[in-house]
Amino acid sequence: MGIVVQKYGGSSLADADAIKRVARRIVDVKKSGHDVVVAVSAMGDTTDDLLDLATGVSPLPPAREMDMLLTAGERISMALVAMAISDLGFTARSFTGSQAGVITDSVHGKAKIIDVTPGRITQAIGEGHIVIVAGFQGVSADTKEITTLGRGGTDTTAVALAAALEADVCEIYTDVDGVFTADPRIVPSARKLGRVSYEEMLELAACGAKILHLRCVEYGRRYGIPIHVRSSFSQLEGTWVVNDPQLSGPSQGETMEQPIIAGVAHDRSEAKITVVGVPDKVGEAARIFEALADAQINLDMIVQNISAAATSLTDISFTLPRSDGQTAMTALARIQAEVGYDKLLYDDKIGKVSLIGAGMRSHPGITSKFFGALASAGVNIGMISTSEIRISVIVDENAVDDAVRATHTAFDLDADEVEAVVYGGTGR
Ligand code: ADP
Ligand code: ASP
Ligand code: MG
Repeated sequence: MGIVVQKYGGSSLADADAIKRVARRIVDVKKSGHDVVVAVSAMGDTTDDLLDLATGVSPLPPAREMDMLLTAGERISMALVAMAISDLGFTARSFTGSQAGVITDSVHGKAKIIDVTPGRITQAIGEGHIVIVAGFQGVSADTKEITTLGRGGTDTTAVALAAALEADVCEIYTDVDGVFTADPRIVPSARKLGRVSYEEMLELAACGAKILHLRCVEYGRRYGIPIHVRSSFSQLEGTWVVNDPQLSGPSQGETMEQPIIAGVAHDRSEAKITVVGVPDKVGEAARIFEALADAQINLDMIVQNISAAATSLTDISFTLPRSDGQTAMTALARIQAEVGYDKLLYDDKIGKVSLIGAGMRSHPGITSKFFGALASAGVNIGMISTSEIRISVIVDENAVDDAVRATHTAFDLDADEVEAVVYGGTGR
């Protein structure tokens, strides 16, 4: 029998009873003859609480210490889950990310996994134990420091373990029944996708559908690991993230036929910076974006206006994670004299709404229908960006919910009967 890798999110591990329930699910898999490796997140909103605590102590905590603090959350869950399993008469061994061989680069707060050396895991499996691994963390190959993988990173831990252990599938247990056509917390009439392609899931995750961590989907695609997203509160079949949703994966759970649109995603975690009055000459944009790259900032949308004829000055706007806003403003302020721009504007009262679907490639009129839906809902568009299978707009933060619902309805994604149950979690 093969190895089953499972991941339980914080909402599935909210309290002692939840941990005992998860332990029973894990033991059931072991009883059915599989070896089980489980990645766990911090309990409930522990990570947010620790973040609040840190900013209460210091406005800009050192990144190394932040990682030391946040990794404590997953360490609590791993030990408690192992204890609950031993109470059911099975033995479990818990390991930190470092002990489990999760090797990362050295960027605190958003480290990338570069290798997994699961020697201690395979040894523990060989000795008949259930293995519990603290998600969201690793150790840097260079600096030997403890790192974290970015919010939601336990999904990536799980898929990386599944790849390293050559597991057949990685099961992601969460507080909804799978991947829906929109966040069920905003659109109760959203439909569950039976299957979705890695390609579409990558766009959904990149556009804020926090049901899966972006790098977990990248990892799954690279190593060909099917990801089964399902609820830890029900026994229902969830959503299969696979290469070609039409050809592979089990046939149950199909709720939509060859959809043009996979779903609508939203993101309230970005901010917009405008560099006002940039001289229109060669190399200016390169200098600006070099400063941001040096500060390890990932940018999303970028818009450069045409320069005003009279002044030869232009404005460059871009979006980035809100959490990097301060760092980006500081990095840009440092090069003001060199670049010669006029001033910087910062706006974090924005949201992004994205429409995603591989069928967009071959269906004209999707953009006009999307923008028409936003107009009918009275939503103003601030910025636009597109990829082959995605259209994203920046809107006012307060207009996000209306924009998502109007778009969902305009593309006939609403289910006839409400099936989107949110079992737990606070949505934080
Ligand atoms: P976990 O604690 O299990 O990691 P998360 O809160 O990270 O859970 O992710 C699950 C949440 O993702 C759901 O409760 C839901 O609100 C949100 N979500 C956003 N977009 C979607 C979507 N398209 N389908 C399902 N859930 C979504
Ligand atoms: N506990 C971390 C977070 O809240 C990682 C995770 O849940 O995946 O982001
Ligand atoms: Mg998550």
